[in-house]
Amino acid sequence: MSRKVQFKAEPREIPDGILVVDIACGSIFALFDVQEREREYCVMGPRPLAQRVIEAAEAALQTADFVTPIDVLVAIGWLDGGAVARWRQGRIPSIESAVQAPPSRIFEALDLLGSWAAQNGLIPNEVQYLERSTERRPLRFSQSTHPALERLYRTHWVSSALPERERKHLVEKFNQPPELVVIWPLKDDWTCNRCGGGGDFLTMEPSGPACLGCVGLEDLEFLAAGDALLTRRAKAKGTRHAVVVRFSRNRRRYERRGLLVEPAALAEAEREIKDRKPAQGALTGARQ
Ligand SMILES: [Zn+2]
Repeated sequence: MSRKVQFKAEPREIPDGILVVDIACGSIFALFDVQEREREYCVMGPRPLAQRVIEAAEAALQTADFVTPIDVLVAIGWLDGGAVARWRQGRIPSIESAVQAPPSRIFEALDLLGSWAAQNGLIPNEVQYLERSTERRPLRFSQSTHPALERLYRTHWVSSALPERERKHLVEKFNQPPELVVIWPLKDDWTCNRCGGGGDFLTMEPSGPACLGCVGLEDLEFLAAGDALLTRRAKAKGTRHAVVVRFSRNRRRYERRGLLVEPAALAEAEREIKDRKPAQGALTGARQ
């Protein structure tokens, strides 16, 4: 038996016989068994922030070998994953405005994370966060943009147990500019917020949908998903590409449908693969 409980971010299934207690810390909740532990709650009170931060950080470290402040804020229930995605697209001015806690509490949580990470020998890496848009503007974390606070937010902590090569690779990955995402809309009755035009694909900007012409991607060619080798080559040979996603009504989520790539890169990749095939055939023929 279970019942649905409305949390601030999303409804969750809670087993029967469990009482959900809002412990008055914004969106932080605790679960207690009605009969067994109600009294315990009165004695215990809310769990300290340090404990929640450390638990979230330890869990992240176990699954990914690194911890980021954003992941911890999501894990302790102060930040919603959807808001993080909107912020990454540049549609929210600062991540702080989406966090369900006052700036002083956020600072406390990030400071706790930093102290815990330093005590445990984790290695700090300042990461540049860029907007997932053609402009690639640096993302803002706080309203005040105080350098110390911004640094706390952008520091990813990496496990020192990781071999140096893997650590370097991880840091490179952190600093890679985000892939551009282009939407293949289900309906074509949308209007570009800049020129009033339309098209087969759009990108989302803070002010609304924009056509490929206005964001400087109109020269790219669509390559449908399916041919992994061709996709990889065409992507590697060009300097620009964008991931094409389309909303699936059945699965209720956006799905990858292919890439927009540079036509010259695509042609070169196709030629290379075609040239390689007869050579491979000759090689297998010679072995027989
Ligand atoms: Zn336009």
